[in-house]
Amino acid sequence: MKIKSRSLSNSEGQDNSRMQIQQVEDKIEKFLERKFRVSRSYSTKMTYRSHIVRFGEFTRIRYNLVFINVRKIPDEKTLENTIVHELIHMRFPYISHGKRFNKLVRRGLCGKIFTPYQK
Ligand SMILES: [Zn+2]
Repeated sequence: MKIKSRSLSNSEGQDNSRMQIQQVEDKIEKFLERKFRVSRSYSTKMTYRSHIVRFGEFTRIRYNLVFINVRKIPDEKTLENTIVHELIHMRFPYISHGKRFNKLVRRGLCGKIFTPYQK
């Protein structure tokens, strides 16, 4: 009898903490929705876009970082392609988009390891 009541109160405790976690998750989700609301105004969207582009240029020049806007990436395959594409840019800064560049991206996707870029 004692064991049963203990196990009962234990599962109640779990339900309680699960409910609390759910409440916190809901709060976070609401907060993020308010923060990242998509504007319907064209000029606001253009302003955001130019800020993102400028932020990307800043991180690339200042920190050698490539900024990838994951909101624009629909699936994992596209993400992988984008990451490899950007890595090829960093490894081969002297090659611009084109057949040769795409060939390198395909090789990268197949797992080719390139020697580090030497200036
Ligand atoms: Zn590119």
